[in-house]
Amino acid sequence: MDESTEKKLRYAAQWLADSLWAVALTGAGLSVDSGIPDFRSPGGLWDRFDPFEYAHVEAFHTDPIKVWQMLKELSDLVINAKPNPGHHSLVELSEMGILQAVITQNIDNLHQEAGSPEVIEFHGNGNRLVCLSCGWTTTADKAHEKCEATGEFPPSCESCGSIMKPEVIFFGEPIPAKALMDSQEQAQKADLILVVGTSATVVPASNIPLLTKRAGGRIVEINLETTALSPMADVTLLGSTTDILPRLVQAVREIKGV
Ligand SMILES: [Zn+2]
Repeated sequence: MDESTEKKLRYAAQWLADSLWAVALTGAGLSVDSGIPDFRSPGGLWDRFDPFEYAHVEAFHTDPIKVWQMLKELSDLVINAKPNPGHHSLVELSEMGILQAVITQNIDNLHQEAGSPEVIEFHGNGNRLVCLSCGWTTTADKAHEKCEATGEFPPSCESCGSIMKPEVIFFGEPIPAKALMDSQEQAQKADLILVVGTSATVVPASNIPLLTKRAGGRIVEINLETTALSPMADVTLLGSTTDILPRLVQAVREIKGV
């Protein structure tokens, strides 16, 4: 970490230590070190499966068996991934009473697995499967085990036999209204928003940090590279979230003496 990054990190740590209500907005960059490549990156899911052919909700209704070719990979990623030091750092900030909510665009369940108490799922959760016909639900782990045991694929509803759908937001589906309202409310209430591992360019997620800014709060951005949000950020810490977040939490601990 160079001198200027170190200095910026100290500012960010001081703001966090002074914050009365901080929230985080997280995206794909946070989970890369958990073995989940950004779907948009070369070799990522959308490089190999055209999202409009495989991840559009109409495609699921038309041919769920075909869409499950892609969903199988997605499920395997979610089942096998483990939280990394970035996820754990956010849990620490919650335990210190600083971070009040995590708004995530990730569907990998890693914030929940790490133990973040308040997670707003913007794009759903790949670890939950739902039957669109009758509403029966199960988890990806359980469905996976059953498929292994019976040789049946894709997973079907134990109540009515329909093909299960992961509770993730497909293209053509709206962001869940409650998640949208909750995240807007949190962002407006926050005096600081940590934007972690996301370029925050996709509407409506991209509006979230701006709500904090307009309400007089600060934006602290942690990303590998500068983004469209960087000019609006009070500080941009460039680097891997797995590296920067634990350092940031350590600096907050030093300031607060905890
Ligand atoms: Zn069913």
